[in-house]
Amino acid sequence: MHEFSIVESILDTLGELAGKNRLARITSVTLTIGRLRQVVPETLRFAFEAASKDTVAHGARLELEFVDIRARCTTCGAKFRVENNYYICGTCNGTSVELTSGDELIIQSVEGEEA
Ligand SMILES: [Zn+2]
Repeated sequence: MHEFSIVESILDTLGELAGKNRLARITSVTLTIGRLRQVVPETLRFAFEAASKDTVAHGARLELEFVDIRARCTTCGAKFRVENNYYICGTCNGTSVELTSGDELIIQSVEGEEA
């Protein structure tokens, strides 16, 4: 369950954010997650609840926004959405593609209460 390691790094960042912004408590966190990360929402929520005990983020609402995997063909320049791990350009059948999105793991926004 790699969700736990993801949650730990998020909690580290939230702790720093809370310190810098003098927040006593974090009430809401919005995460942007690329589908390449293969995060299972239920598992992530469970991991967050368990790991956030005794942190400033305990009890925070977790909003998850998933980003599709997208790629650009380096042969013809076409941009397309990758489905079922099919990394082949639909325009020219090229197999030389580069990812343009899908591996994000971003803390998009945080709400909290000041100390
Ligand atoms: Zn192409």
